[in-house]
Amino acid sequence: MLFCSDKCEKFPCARLKNLDKRYRTKYKMSMLENLENIKKFEIKKFVKFEQKRWKCPKCGELLCVHRDSCLNCGEKR
Ligand SMILES: [Zn+2]
Repeated sequence: MLFCSDKCEKFPCARLKNLDKRYRTKYKMSMLENLENIKKFEIKKFVKFEQKRWKCPKCGELLCVHRDSCLNCGEKR
């Protein structure tokens, strides 16, 4: 699997940096961090790590990055 961080000589480009900044502020999630983690852990481990990270601590449902609380039980993330 290829990611823009593998191939693009402009990585991280201004567009990605802006998007990353917006997501970090608004949704507490970083694409640049994700791309670094994919490099560090390999994709399988990364996905496992993300599945744990985005699990609601209260009910165990998957959390939505665009919401600040669990869609299922309302627990804040
Ligand atoms: Zn929940």
